[in-house]
Amino acid sequence: MMVLKGAEVAASMKEELIREVEEQKLKGISPMLGIVRVGARSDDLAYERGAIKRFADVGIGTKVFEYPETISQEEFIEGFSSINADPSIHGILLFRPLPKHLDEEAVRSLINPLKDIDCMSPINASKVFCGDETGFAPCTPEAVMQLLKHYNINVGGKRVVVLGRSLVVGKPLLMLLLGQNATVTVCHSKTANLKQVCSEAEILISAMGRAKMVTKDYIGKDAVVVDVGINVDNEGKLCGDVDFDSASENASMITPVPGGVGAVTTFILARHVVRSAAYLTAQK
Ligand code: NDP
Repeated sequence: MMVLKGAEVAASMKEELIREVEEQKLKGISPMLGIVRVGARSDDLAYERGAIKRFADVGIGTKVFEYPETISQEEFIEGFSSINADPSIHGILLFRPLPKHLDEEAVRSLINPLKDIDCMSPINASKVFCGDETGFAPCTPEAVMQLLKHYNINVGGKRVVVLGRSLVVGKPLLMLLLGQNATVTVCHSKTANLKQVCSEAEILISAMGRAKMVTKDYIGKDAVVVDVGINVDNEGKLCGDVDFDSASENASMITPVPGGVGAVTTFILARHVVRSAAYLTAQK
């Protein structure tokens, strides 16, 4: 059984990004990500620190816009609008969910689709649906596709099962896989005979958020297994949706958690910032 390592994918993306950013800088473009955070949740702060470091490593700048959790809708929209209009900011990452009193929908329709590097805008969501590659797909499904591509796992003509139908992972992943000619089945909590359906997949991708639920019974002989889930097990340790040891008995390849898909997503985000910087500069 082969372990599909996110770090390996990230390393090759990193080299490519460094080259692209250098080329942009020679043209006078300094790609810059605006990170918008309301409050100070510890997981947001941890992600932010990691992103700032990884972006700096490839030469992309970051600016953090922090707002108090008590900010009013009007003040938040005013702040967000000025970031949206700031020509030095090329991509915007907004930590979600927002506090309940803030209207996320208002932000979705407000964000400049060219700066919407994490697919909040309905315009980018519809581009994913239409197979229009000028849009920005959500980073996690794109990270899955990048990982498969890196390891030369061609999805064309294959039976692929996706576990999960959320707007951030399952549904956009379905569209990206279809775009690469996979035959895709999307499962969810109401799917009947789940084990049977999953075990027929040549490639099984799990994005449910159910710790270690996917055991060998869900996996056909020599299937490729991609684990998108990020969960905590009974001992408080980070784990995926896949029970790695059990799954190893049937799978030919598996992505680990941590160290799989999650290690690739920030570099997809970085790639989107480089692209948004190019789009916005061309528009001037
Ligand atoms: P959601 O909770 O929005 O969606 C989960 C999906 O899984 C739903 O469609 C749900 O079905 C389905 N599901 C849940 N339980 C079962 C079950 N027992 N059997 C079959 N289907 C089930 O989660 P997200 O899509 O936002 O995230 C999924 C996982 O991916 C989470 O663990 C999250 O932490 C992780 N994640 C990882 C990222 C990364 O970078 N690696 C980034 C984003 C998310 P239904 O629709 O019927 O409720």
